[in-house]
Amino acid sequence: MLLTLTTHERMVSSNRNKRHCINVKKNMINMLGDKCINCGEDDIDVLQVDHINDDGKKDRDKYTGLQFFRESLKTPIESKKRLQILCANCNIRKQRIREEFDRLEKHKIIGF
Ligand SMILES: [Zn+2]
Repeated sequence: MLLTLTTHERMVSSNRNKRHCINVKKNMINMLGDKCINCGEDDIDVLQVDHINDDGKKDRDKYTGLQFFRESLKTPIESKKRLQILCANCNIRKQRIREEFDRLEKHKIIGF
């Protein structure tokens, strides 16, 4: 049997999915402190989950979509050691600083 959804059913399903995504993101942000740890911004629309040690690639390779948030919410103590909340501006600044640091280190201008 072929099951097709009407436009209205697709919209309802899409809206439920969006609400679910927003709720999972809210839970994640709430677990990590509700605001940007750098500037205090608390607008959920611009808050992002940041990997403190820039080791997010393995999570991006392992999880898709909300899986990462769901898994992180299961282990709050571990998650708080690895993750933090940054607003979009502070996250971009962090990335720029990291890129500049890596460039300087690559050219042996600084080193550890
Ligand atoms: Zn910020």
